[in-house]
This record gives sequence, C-alpha cells and structure tokens, in this order.
Amino acid sequence: MTEKRAIHIARHKVVVEAGWHYYRPTFPTKYLEFWRMALEALIKAKAERPVDISDGYGDTVTSCPGCRKPVINYYNPNVKPCYCMLCGQKLDWEQEPIREEANHE
Ligand SMILES: [Zn+2]
Repeated sequence: MTEKRAIHIARHKVVVEAGWHYYRPTFPTKYLEFWRMALEALIKAKAERPVDISDGYGDTVTSCPGCRKPVINYYNPNVKPCYCMLCGQKLDWEQEPIREEANHE
C-alpha cells in the first residue's frame, strides 16, 4: 500500500466516525479520536517537499510544508534535515523545494 492510499483511507474513516458522532452524540468518540490521530501521523510520515517561502524583498526561507517554520539552520545551510524538528513532518529533498512567492495585499 502506498502512503497516499493509507492517508486516503484514514481520511475516509475520520469522515465516517465524525458522521456516527453527529447522528449519535452519546456514541463514544474514541474511534473518531483514534482515526484523527492516525491520519495526522500518516500525513507527517509521508515525505513532502519543503517550501521556499519568499518574503518578497529578496530573502527566501526554506520552510516546513506542515507548520511553515524554517527547516534550514541559518548558520549551517547545507544540512537538510529528514524531519521538521518542530512538527515532525518528514521532508523530501529529492527535488528542489517548492517555490512560493509572498503576496503583499
Ligand atoms: Zn514542521
């Protein structure tokens, strides 16, 4: 099974369990909580490309696609961590980070 498929199934389970809870509010929420936790863990375990977030003034910060916090150490930019140290998102460095331009509205 691919990670993508596992995430799809877990997401479906969250919807089903949330539906049960909606129609039967007294129904225990432990299964809903379980599938929400499982979904979150599966999403973080699937490697995602980091995002190069531009501030629009010439600086770019390579950031986590999950929590959007910087993942590259300012003093040691050659170190590419396998995981975001803040949220645990697995990172994919096989390709270039996704470029994202800031829009100042
Ligand atoms: Zn993160």
